[in-house]
Amino acid sequence: MKQGIGEQRGFVLHNRPLLQSEEPKIRRFQPLNEQEVRPMTLRLFNTLTGQLDELVPSDGKALRMYACGPTVYDYGHIGNFRTFLQVDVLRRYLKLAGTGVRHVMNITDVDDKIIRNAAAAEISISEYTAGFERAFFEDLDALRVERPEVIARATEHIPRMVELIQKLAAVGAAYQAEDGSWYFRLAAFPEYGKLSKKDLSGMEDGARVDLDEYEKDSARDFALWKAAKPGETSWETAIGCGRPGWHIECSTMAMEYLGESFDLHAGGEDLIFPHHENEIAQSESVTHKTFARHWMHVRFLLVDGRKMSKSEGNFYTLRDLLLKGYKASAIRLALISVPYRHQFNFTFDGLIEATAAIDRLRTFVARLKQGIFAPGFNSALQSAAKQAQDECRAALSNDLNTAEARAPIFDLIRTANTAIDHGQLRVVDRDAILGVLYQFDAVFDVLEDRDAEPTRHALAWAEQSGRLGDVSPELLARQGLTDEAIEALVAERTLAKKQRNFARADQIRNELAEKGVVLEDSKDGVRWKRK
Ligand code: AMP
Ligand code: ZN
Repeated sequence: MKQGIGEQRGFVLHNRPLLQSEEPKIRRFQPLNEQEVRPMTLRLFNTLTGQLDELVPSDGKALRMYACGPTVYDYGHIGNFRTFLQVDVLRRYLKLAGTGVRHVMNITDVDDKIIRNAAAAEISISEYTAGFERAFFEDLDALRVERPEVIARATEHIPRMVELIQKLAAVGAAYQAEDGSWYFRLAAFPEYGKLSKKDLSGMEDGARVDLDEYEKDSARDFALWKAAKPGETSWETAIGCGRPGWHIECSTMAMEYLGESFDLHAGGEDLIFPHHENEIAQSESVTHKTFARHWMHVRFLLVDGRKMSKSEGNFYTLRDLLLKGYKASAIRLALISVPYRHQFNFTFDGLIEATAAIDRLRTFVARLKQGIFAPGFNSALQSAAKQAQDECRAALSNDLNTAEARAPIFDLIRTANTAIDHGQLRVVDRDAILGVLYQFDAVFDVLEDRDAEPTRHALAWAEQSGRLGDVSPELLARQGLTDEAIEALVAERTLAKKQRNFARADQIRNELAEKGVVLEDSKDGVRWKRK
């Protein structure tokens, strides 16, 4: 193995935190004192009841949850990822609290837009959606969003959707129109509107809509099944030749994998009406059971205070941001740090703040891991660690308040840094503080530096798809240097300094700075990091 100068002297040359496998003794998520830790019950706002309800698995084992997934007709934008990330915060919190999770997510791989775009590109819908589906999972990986236990594609569940429509027809809640399409009869479900709290008294009986997404204010009989138009992708079934509507997909796949009644259903706030209202109507008309007991909706993301849209020029995919040189971890932190029920206003200043926050966290962990501390403990630091842990947990258990969960962690870092400066932090304190940070990171997942890979991947994608023009010049310059090349230059500079060749040492420092690599001389050796 190549040895850098610093390593020969027992120092660490780079600022990568140690991998978990390299880590000494510290058990993950270890509470400071098992008896003193309060139970982590989660109170989560429920759109259906309009209040904070305790979220517990009804079977006492695993929380059964369904979250609406993407329509794979384009690359995911940061609004989509805000919602997927907030659902990730929920599932990680549940796991941290010791609750099992069975999480199902659909992939909508057939709808109006997909059919239109695939036809324009003169390819099949599966060819069209495959690339976007792959890109979606790559993006989730970049953002460290955990995979749901079940991923269900709409086109692989058509027979089950047909069965559900037949059951709806049997109870008088579905009818076939002249063109062969099937509609849900709103009048057959008097509770329609209970999720969105819409007053539907003026609703016109029999007025219909066959679009997948439609006017927010129009409550109409909606399409369950759309009869095939000439040239369109369609399935030959017992209810005719056609394709499913968007809403029936989610009812079918949720009940297929979670049962007729399950714990939680999630999605962005735009889905409350009509999508989720329609899912309830379709499912409960057949089962007469509560479809989902708890509904979680993530507030929309705005960009610089405005709705994100291509025509406004303020529309960003994850890939756009990676190519501008922002780190995947900073994007994750920015998108989760505002609690899910608050409007999130995305700004580049916010992203820069998140980048600095991650830097502070990682630098602090490196300081704890690399420092040499006296044995024993400092009781003030022990209670500071415990307080931070309690406050962090309490904030998350209160409607997943990520902003309030973050604050005590940064307070603890400030306190601990001052203690280290004064030689007052001991070995037991280090372990306790690392334990608190790992618990925080079980939900936030930003401590370990895994940022190089998503950026490299985005660059390779930009190259393949002719988008190198979107890459920031700083990022291109930075990517020119591999970690090994940087370490070799750092080692050469250390040697030059030892030989009192300060001109060469300065030249190397400047060369690295131009490529976005900052050197930090400390008593522990030379650390480097990419800006
Ligand atoms: P779609 O691929 O459009 O079906 O959306 C996937 C998910 O992203 C859904 O849960 C949407 O509600 C959500 N979503 C779409 N736009 C935004 C936005 N601007 N902010 C937050 N969530 C959004
Ligand atoms: Zn859905």
